[in-house]
Amino acid sequence: MDGHISKCMKRLKEWNAPLTGWRCDKVVDVREDQEDIPLDMRSRLSKCELCDCDKVRYEHWMVNDLYFEPVIVGCICAGIMEGDIMAAKERERVIRNRQKRRRNFVKRRWVVNKQGVFTRSYRHKRIFIRKINGFYDIRCGSKWCNRYKGKLITDMLSASYAAFELADPRRR
Ligand SMILES: [Zn+2]
Repeated sequence: MDGHISKCMKRLKEWNAPLTGWRCDKVVDVREDQEDIPLDMRSRLSKCELCDCDKVRYEHWMVNDLYFEPVIVGCICAGIMEGDIMAAKERERVIRNRQKRRRNFVKRRWVVNKQGVFTRSYRHKRIFIRKINGFYDIRCGSKWCNRYKGKLITDMLSASYAAFELADPRRR
């Protein structure tokens, strides 16, 4: 562990990057939505920019007011950069759990009501998905959306993912 820490610090020094003051801007799952596709079709895992480990699934995007770009690293290096390994592990645990809920969420069936609207409840909220002129929109409580990852929704799987984003929003 100490060896790992000094390796990370050495690299930051090589870059003339600050050694303190880092915080996590976001965590990105590089294999989001890829559970059901064959292994060799999934996108490659990411490489930690600090220790070169190339098995990073959850990228921690570390930012610093005194550095010009984010540094993308794995969980342990993120913890070293922010001086709090427990915080980095907890952040990754929260994301992993949410991704698990997300996978389970899209596997569950929707009920179709008389108006042809797909509906289901989740965490005491009612979710509705309507298909109009080939496009889907989603309502959950007072929230509404008709896009998933920036695109209009043309299939039920994307509609389910978008519904999950409304019903179980990411923590920041
Ligand atoms: Zn690393």
